[in-house]
Amino acid sequence: MIADNSAPTTREQCVALDRQDVLRPFRDEFALPAGVIYLDGNSLGARPRAAAARAAQVVELEWGEGLIRSWNTAGWFDLPRRLGNLLAPLIGAGPHEVVVTDTTSVNLFKVLAAALRVQGARAPARRVIVSERSNFPTDLYIAQGLADLLQQGYTLRLVDSPAGIDDAVRDDTAVLMLTHVNYKTGEMLDMTALTALAHERGALTVWDLAHSAGAVPVALRDAGADYAVGCTYKYLNGGPGAPAFLWVSPSLRDDFSQPLSGWWGHAAPFAMEPGYRPHAGVARFLCGTQPITSIAMVECGLAMFARADMAAVRAKSLALTDLFIALVETRCAGHPLELVTPREHHRRGSQVSLYHPDGYGIVQALIERGVIGDYREPGIARFGFTPLYTGYADVWDAVEILRDVLDSGCHREARFQIRGAVT
Ligand SMILES: *Cc1c(COP(=O)(O)O)cnc(C)c1O
Repeated sequence: MIADNSAPTTREQCVALDRQDVLRPFRDEFALPAGVIYLDGNSLGARPRAAAARAAQVVELEWGEGLIRSWNTAGWFDLPRRLGNLLAPLIGAGPHEVVVTDTTSVNLFKVLAAALRVQGARAPARRVIVSERSNFPTDLYIAQGLADLLQQGYTLRLVDSPAGIDDAVRDDTAVLMLTHVNYKTGEMLDMTALTALAHERGALTVWDLAHSAGAVPVALRDAGADYAVGCTYKYLNGGPGAPAFLWVSPSLRDDFSQPLSGWWGHAAPFAMEPGYRPHAGVARFLCGTQPITSIAMVECGLAMFARADMAAVRAKSLALTDLFIALVETRCAGHPLELVTPREHHRRGSQVSLYHPDGYGIVQALIERGVIGDYREPGIARFGFTPLYTGYADVWDAVEILRDVLDSGCHREARFQIRGAVT
């Protein structure tokens, strides 16, 4: 493996880059524990400092004092749509096109069902959903569950690599369902080209942006995409289990009809009518009452992104991941680490995955030393790079600790082999 010659080769150079970094001031807006280098913002984003005050406000004032009145007076009812409008620019969507609600899994169920229904009217013979075998499992599980529920002969066709997509999308294909940046490898797909390929063959596209929103620039409208879902608790720093988001192309909004036809998607929820009538606008993407104490936190992360230049975030993300790769390849040379993430910038998200036969123990040993990444089967150590709060010197220090762990062999100790429920 050949290291990138332009990357810094000393810690002093990294410190100098941090000093010049236009995004550096954002770091102070996050509450990061002392002694921790946090490289897992791709799994659970760090806490914006503002979230503590917002939580106190929601719990003590809006809930405690306002009680039921807060649905109107504190704007609780409008939160899914207001936050959707804040999020929209990050994914190349327009105003009144996005809602923040439910989980990514649930939203995927909704959009996939809507897409199959549109295709059922247009081209009923299309009964195949194409996706990648390496897609995040919940995405595949949801598609399997929906196909099973519909009992109309829908099947999943899974490809083993993105190169197989071209061949797999055929005249029997209803939907091409892909995750833009792969959770395990960090590989980014070409949304524009794959959407065009799907449309050429008569298929609709569903994009999962769980590892894209806040990580890489996304242009849903420009790409001509049809449906998208994604996460707010990863790169968007919304808090553990914070509600996800859902987008539908304006051209398909009026056809958006989904089986989770709960009262929040109704044209007049408080008319308490016995029959379902979908709302004319984006509210039809909603199902039921939102977890206000959690959804309210999402605004703290989004408010930061509203002030950050996404082009600067992307440039720094690539610089940090380039630096990490170069340092691992030079300073940890001789250890059996394999780079899983693509080297080409246009194919890389904002994480670096390394394969090592003892990947699990290495991640546990790093965590004990304050470098927090995570582990995904088989043998993959994942490191997420979040430009708003991770600096160049952090990358240097993380690699030095990785080198230390590998050189000492401490990752092979029995205590680092014990598995928790969440890896
Ligand atoms: C993180 C992630 C999810 C998470 O779904 P939840 O419903 O929030 O648990 C779904 N899909 C992808 C691709 C992910 O990376």
